[in-house]
Amino acid sequence: MAMKVLVPVKRVVDFNVKVRVKTDGSGVETTGLKMSMNPFDEIAVEEAIRLKEKGLATEIVAVSLGVAACSETLRTALAMGADRGILVETEVELQPLAVAKLLKAVAEREAPRLVILGKQAIDDDMNATGQMLAALLGWPQGTFASRLLIDGDGAVVTREVDGGLETVSLALPAVVTTDLRLNEPRYASLPNIMKARRKPIETLTPAALGVDPTPRLTLVSVAEPPHRQAGRKVGSVAELVEKLRTEAKVI
Ligand code: AMP
Repeated sequence: MAMKVLVPVKRVVDFNVKVRVKTDGSGVETTGLKMSMNPFDEIAVEEAIRLKEKGLATEIVAVSLGVAACSETLRTALAMGADRGILVETEVELQPLAVAKLLKAVAEREAPRLVILGKQAIDDDMNATGQMLAALLGWPQGTFASRLLIDGDGAVVTREVDGGLETVSLALPAVVTTDLRLNEPRYASLPNIMKARRKPIETLTPAALGVDPTPRLTLVSVAEPPHRQAGRKVGSVAELVEKLRTEAKVI
């Protein structure tokens, strides 16, 4: 059976960039910073490509939601091996519930058998969108996947959970979110980057999908974590023990 895979890819500040909080505490400075595909989403694209290479997936559709520049993130997915892209373009700051509603609308149009998302986006660390999407669609979910097997009409997902691994069996269609150990994403080769330029990207809007993306959460403030104090050298074990007794605090 034809298996279409939908892969949501988010444009985020590159993981190598050290972000700085804006002086007014209203968020993180992003202007002029290098932007990249969220690393967990690269793993999701890679997994979809491997399913296609094994003859299990028939088409890979990458979808990105946000400003027009998200089309660059889609081009990266296309250069890795996705077949086509969908850009849901909006200037509105998108929160996970809005993203999940928009992805639900895209999933209803595209009817994929599998949606593979990252477990979290490294900018806001929400870890919410995949779970919300599964709930809205009424589909089973296998989050934090470190192994994914497609078996006929089902998927077997090994999940990284506290204290070990858990294996769940899901009926398709299903939502899977990736963890770090699932695979090592490939780099796009130059010929594939060139080829990706000719792959189609469709542009939609939240209104066209019938979704109101207005934020529901209010950001109160963003602050840097406190800086660590410099350490001190002690002269003897006795002094160390004394300091541990009198000065050390649990923080
Ligand atoms: P989050 O719940 O925000 O931590 O994001 C989890 C996953 O949802 C990401 O790894 C992406 O696969 C997907 N996602 C979140 N926001 C977007 C977006 N704006 N565009 C495309 N995918 C997104």
